Amino acid sequence: KLTFDELIRHWAQEKPDAVALEQEGDAITFGELEVRSRQIVSMLASHGVGKGDRIAWLGKNARHYFELFYSAARVGAVMVPIGWRLAPPEIAYILGDTGAKVLFIDEGFDELAAKACGQMDSPPEIIDTPTAKAQIAAASADEFTPAGRDDAILQLYTSGTTGNPKGAVLTNGNLFSLRLPAEEAAQPWSSWDEDEAILICMPCAHIGGTGLGIMAMAAGIRGIVQAEFSPEGVLDGFEQGITRLFIVPAALQMVVQHPRAKTTDMSGVKYVMYGAAPIPLDLLREAVKTIPAAGFLQCYGMTETTGTIAMLPPDDHDLEGNQRMRSAGKAVPGAELKVVDENGDELPLGEVGELICKSPSNMAGYWNLPEATANSLKDGWMYTGDAAYMDEDGYVYIQDRIKDMIISGGENVYPAQVESAIYGHPAVAEVAVIGVPDETWGEAVKACVVPKPGATVEPNDIIAFTRERLAGFKVPKSIDVIDVMPRNASGKILRRELRAPYWEGRD
Ligand code: ATP
Ligand code: MG
Repeated sequence: KLTFDELIRHWAQEKPDAVALEQEGDAITFGELEVRSRQIVSMLASHGVGKGDRIAWLGKNARHYFELFYSAARVGAVMVPIGWRLAPPEIAYILGDTGAKVLFIDEGFDELAAKACGQMDSPPEIIDTPTAKAQIAAASADEFTPAGRDDAILQLYTSGTTGNPKGAVLTNGNLFSLRLPAEEAAQPWSSWDEDEAILICMPCAHIGGTGLGIMAMAAGIRGIVQAEFSPEGVLDGFEQGITRLFIVPAALQMVVQHPRAKTTDMSGVKYVMYGAAPIPLDLLREAVKTIPAAGFLQCYGMTETTGTIAMLPPDDHDLEGNQRMRSAGKAVPGAELKVVDENGDELPLGEVGELICKSPSNMAGYWNLPEATANSLKDGWMYTGDAAYMDEDGYVYIQDRIKDMIISGGENVYPAQVESAIYGHPAVAEVAVIGVPDETWGEAVKACVVPKPGATVEPNDIIAFTRERLAGFKVPKSIDVIDVMPRNASGKILRRELRAPYWEGRD
């Protein structure tokens, strides 16, 4: 089954009374979803929305959003979830770029939507949740022509960590090709028990949020929607039967360091999936110790690959100094990974180059950006922009973004490695490493550090601490102590914001 339409029909037949989606105890079964989604298709049609049209969502995670998305997908209308933390001009940019016909907004987003649409020449029609729900309830559950496997159904904007967000166009086939549970589960985590539940708590504007809804649909299991991430929400979820979740490292840190983590019953957690950004090794070790019942799965991937294309399996998370724990894992079945040089030629194992990926989950292309598409999708290979090397068993070790690499005195320094070392210092809560202009070295390594509450960060102390752990050329020459770490909604550190003041007027 490779389309939403096929999956919805399938689960409605197989397990009509099982819960498909749930939020704060309010649930919809697969049987109800089949009918409701036909009504949603009729409602969309009454607004002139059909195959190939864009619709957008502005709101936190909501069951209603997933119902809209799944239903639109049945006919090949393309959902564009927009990050609710974005500012009006950023929202206006995405709406304008997609040419969305309708913008669905959740309660509490009227003002933000009005501000964004006020800046547009031809704004979309705005429909709020109560209006949408009333229209859906009144609509008939008609027949329709289902979208096929190569039809676009989701347009997700990249996180905008390295520049402007780009709209990755994803098809039914992209979404489900790697995600369906294996018939004879090749790996234990690709098979699901009937009573499992997956937590959807990362923002739905990103693949780590919406992708979990896709996973729930593919596996035919219960998706538990939380409006937004909170460590308390995750801990409550553990006690209420959540068996799997995906969270970013910054969120995982808040969960494991939460005072309630010690007293929460986590025995039901089967898999903790984490990724989207490099994870400090100390944090990973702490997490494995805090949630001992769970198998940990590191996920590496990008919006353009519909999420995970490499996974570090639970077995490689042993705490006995296993070097594999530093890896982001190996290609998932169906995907292929290679490390190449600037000319696209494959590099020998162990050498750092650009990681590229061939996968049926690779996007159809960037929306409205033919040049960017041509530069990153070549012969079916997606160029990730990430520097990595591969070992003899196919495990990849992500160094960092190629764009963020610091060249200091002719040596390549990957910020993530330096950050991981500094993170081990007891006074450090958060750290980001950047390159700043330097007359002698070209670029000099600088660390921006947020101290732990009540702690004082002594720059010389951090420098000495790092010198004991890393080669001299990787040790920061200077330290900035800052109050808050600039991050985007995916929890990723915006190094470009930290870098900007030092590079003003230069390249
Ligand atoms: P933009 O492309 O707009 O700059 P972005 O690359 O952050 O933003 P995403 O598609 O959300 O947008 O993120 C993909 C990137 O996240 C990858 O290219 C990689 O740099 C990083 N990443 C994802 N998973 C991991 C992981 N497990 N370890 C390290 N980095 C990861
Ligand atoms: Mg990217």
